[in-house]
Parts: sequence; C-alpha cells; structure tokens
Amino acid sequence: MTPAPAPLVHCHQAALTFGQGARAVVAVHGTDLDVRAGDRLAVVGPSGSGKSSLLHLLAGLERPTSGTVDRAAALTPLTTGLVFQSDSLIPALNVLENTALPLVLAGRTETEAHETARSALDRVGIADLAARLPQEISGGQAQRVAVARVLAQSPLLILADEPTGRLDHATGAQVLDRLLEAAGLSGAALVVTTHDPAVAARLNTRCAMRDGRLLPVKETS
Ligand code: ADP
Ligand code: MG
Repeated sequence: MTPAPAPLVHCHQAALTFGQGARAVVAVHGTDLDVRAGDRLAVVGPSGSGKSSLLHLLAGLERPTSGTVDRAAALTPLTTGLVFQSDSLIPALNVLENTALPLVLAGRTETEAHETARSALDRVGIADLAARLPQEISGGQAQRVAVARVLAQSPLLILADEPTGRLDHATGAQVLDRLLEAAGLSGAALVVTTHDPAVAARLNTRCAMRDGRLLPVKETS
C-alpha cells in the first residue's frame, strides 16, 4: 500500500486560550486534526464554539497556546486562500486590486496579476464591480470578491470562515460552488465553517464544534 501523503496541516493536541488566569477563555481545546490535499471538511457549530479560532490556527494566523500545528512548507501566504467571516478587503484598494493583491505581494507583475484577478472576478459573476471600492459594494458582493481572490491564488489550502453567512440561499450556494471549483482546480484542501447544515451537506466530511471541542459527526444515510 502506498503511504498517505503528508498532511498539509497536522494539529496535535492544538489548543488556543485567550487571556490569562480567571479571565482565560479556552477557544479551542486540545485538538488532533490532519488536513490533506483533496479534503473537503465542514466545521459546523454555533456562534462562540471556536470555529474561527480553529481556522486561524490552521491558517497560521494564531499560534497554539499548547500542542502543535505543523503546516507544510508549501503553504505560503499565496498558497493559503482565506475567506474571512467579515471584511477581508482593504478599504483603499478597488475590487480588482483587492483580488490581485496576493499575486502582487508574491511578486507577479501588476499586468499579470490584474489579468488573473479579472478572470477570477468574471468566474464569480462580478467583473462589473472591478473598479469599485469596498465601501461601494454590498456585504454579499464583498464576500464574492474574497472568493474571487482565493480563485486567483490557485491555493493548496482554502480556509473559508462562514463564507455564506451573509448571503441569501442561492448566492450562498454559488459561492460554495466556486470554492469547491477552486479547490478542485488546484487540488486544494477546503475547510469551511458554517452554521448551515445545507452548506455542510455539500462537503465530504463534517465535524461539529461545541465549546471549543471538535467532534466527528456520525453520518446517517
Ligand atoms: P465562532 O467562530 O465559532 O463564533 P470564535 O472562535 O470566534 O467562535 O470564539 C470562540 C471563543 O473564543 C468565544 O468565547 C470568543 O469570545 C473567544 N474569543 C475569540 N477571539 C478572541 C479574542 N481575540 N480575544 C478573546 N477571546 C476571544
Ligand atoms: Mg466565527
């Protein structure tokens, strides 16, 4: 048997606590989790259960306060695509520039970055918003820009924090289509946090987050 490829992210008893002493809040209790290329994982849980905190650990945006999170060397800011729960856009940059930003930061020429960004905006159906500033678009449109930015990055790991939370059902389903498409095109792993069972149902694996603990969901079929 061929051994399974090394995970993109390997969490061993990774925990994240905010604050200290009596005020300490354990956002994530010791968690074991491997995320591998091709994974499609939904993390479902109520508000405050630790979903965003877990995603930030996977993204390398937070360091675990105990345990370890090992991220493959191939995971760079360019190859880690993030869709944050709220405002992911830089206010001073227009939609096209926001979409192109990871490519520009990674050293692509502006022409090449803008060309890739434009086709990504086209794929999420908002090419006509390219010249607008974030303050000139709706929350739902901003979420689609964040998805376009991920598409432009061709990432190895896509982490989307309640990407459909502010969208109506149809638009939310389209955003998820694009994220699944982006993951498929670049062979990436996709981790999506959500409240919505309909969103979770579209991913292969589901985990529940409850009070900072990640629990596998028993599949009933
Ligand atoms: P979710 O994304 O499921 O709503 P979060 O990961 O945002 O949950 O939060 C989990 C817990 O950690 C909550 O109790 C929240 O108040 C707390 N928390 C999150 N971020 C911080 C922070 N930066 N400082 C202090 N507490 C935080
Ligand atoms: Mg959250």
